[in-house]
Parts: sequence; structure tokens; C-alpha cells
Amino acid sequence: MATPLIVNVVELLRRPGNTKDVDVSVGAADLVFDDERMTASDVGVRLHLEALSNGISVHGTTTAEWKGECRRCLTPLVRPMTVEVDEMYQALPDSPDAHVIDNDQINLLPMVRENLLLAIPLGPLCADDCPGFCPQCGTDLKTGPCGCSRPVGDVRWAALDALKERLGDAQE
Ligand SMILES: [Zn+2]
Ligand SMILES: [Zn+2]
Repeated sequence: MATPLIVNVVELLRRPGNTKDVDVSVGAADLVFDDERMTASDVGVRLHLEALSNGISVHGTTTAEWKGECRRCLTPLVRPMTVEVDEMYQALPDSPDAHVIDNDQINLLPMVRENLLLAIPLGPLCADDCPGFCPQCGTDLKTGPCGCSRPVGDVRWAALDALKERLGDAQE
């Protein structure tokens, strides 16, 4: 079961300064994300490996696609992402952040997977200025103003109105 993300580093380890480039496209299924936020599109991996005196540094980027929905208007989203990678591989890791060189091989797969999953935005927006729904009538404000009297999109007003309504109810 050869995967391009398992890299033999015998040559690299011969001398500090040796380098190797990994530039591959991997099927999402091969990364076994097991996460519904990832789409089925391929994952790009472009990494520069360099032997140092104490291990192998791995720099570059990985690209993939996530899906989700806008947290304000619930529009389904599918977006590409590019994640910077800056990792260290060592035969005997001297920090908890370092990955292990095992049998003159490094397995980039778990590291790539983790970097991508961590980069998926937790509360994505379809657009930074997505107005979401009117807090009073529920209209999707992207489709236009709803006719409510308040300036739309101002959460302070909305909070104040909600408070007034509740006080009004209490007095009835
Ligand atoms: Zn939105
Ligand atoms: Zn409204």
C-alpha cells in the first residue's frame, strides 16, 4: 500500500542540508478524514524537506476543500483552503510537537490531515458582511430589506428591542 505521503528519507539523512521536494495530489479518501466537513476533492501537498543536524524540517502548504454552512444565513458553503505547514521530524523527538522518523521513513499523512482539519473555520460566513436573518421577522436580508422599522443588521438595536418586548409582555 504505497502512498506518496510516506517518504523514504535515507538520502536526506546522509548529510544536513540535503533537500527533497514532495509535490503530490492525494485522493481525499486516502487521507481518511472521517469528518463530514471535508469534501471528496483531492488534497494537494507541496512540501520542502530539509535535513538539519537534529532532524528533518518540513515546510510548505497543503490545499483541500471544506464544506459547511454560513453561521448567519445557513447558506451551504464549499470553500478551498490553503494551510501553511511548518513541522519537524526526528528519530528521537525532543519536543511534543515533533513527529517521528520511523525506519528511515516519515509519514506525512497524519500531519497533513491534522493541519487541514484544524484549519476549517469553526463559524464560517458566506461573506464577512453577511447580514443574516432579520431578528424580528426572520427574512433573509441578503434578498433585500424586510420592511421592519429598525436599521437592519444592528445587533444592539435588536437586543434592545427584545428587552423592550419582554418588559412590555411583563406589564400586560
Ligand atoms: Zn451568510
Ligand atoms: Zn424584518
